[in-house]
Amino acid sequence: MNTPANLVSGKECGTCAMCCKVYDFVDLRKKKGWCENFKTGIGCSIYAERPDSCRAFYCNWMLIEALGPEWKPNICKFVMTYDPSRSILVQVDTSYPTAWRAKPYYEALREWAVRLKSEKRFIFVFVGKNFTVLTAEAEYDLGLFDSSYELKFKTEFKGPVAIDIPYKHKKEGSPV
Ligand code: SF4
Ligand code: SF4
Repeated sequence: MNTPANLVSGKECGTCAMCCKVYDFVDLRKKKGWCENFKTGIGCSIYAERPDSCRAFYCNWMLIEALGPEWKPNICKFVMTYDPSRSILVQVDTSYPTAWRAKPYYEALREWAVRLKSEKRFIFVFVGKNFTVLTAEAEYDLGLFDSSYELKFKTEFKGPVAIDIPYKHKKEGSPV
């Protein structure tokens, strides 16, 4: 597996393995969230030989130079990626469910939500399966959100300004 061309020089996973905790990498057994290959103070104990599913993953901290050391996932306690629409996905360590609300993170996420409005991009925050959407104007807690739901938006107008309001919709055929 090749390293992506945009990997920021000098950024390394090191002792971080937050993605190993907050995501399910498919071909590994996990113990209470952490992969069995994670060792405190070391990180991934099989890093050089880690499976392709792990090797293929790079969080935004590794790819975006402007994100300083405070944004490293084992420091901030959440992992950021892009979803297919280039909205920002924030997957929070459930041991620290309010970490994303701390300074300087929440203020930055709100600011990004404002900047992304014109591109119809948003900030999606997951704490486990609890889903919150940050738009330019507001924060929406949509509660439990899993693969049986899809995210939709309706548009309301405040004067000339279009406001995107997210809501969840049960997919057809999904059990109620
Ligand atoms: S969350 Fe990012 S920095 Fe941490 S181990 Fe995963 S890819 Fe590396
Ligand atoms: S094998 Fe290593 S990189 Fe992969 S999930 Fe486990 S600790 Fe993380």
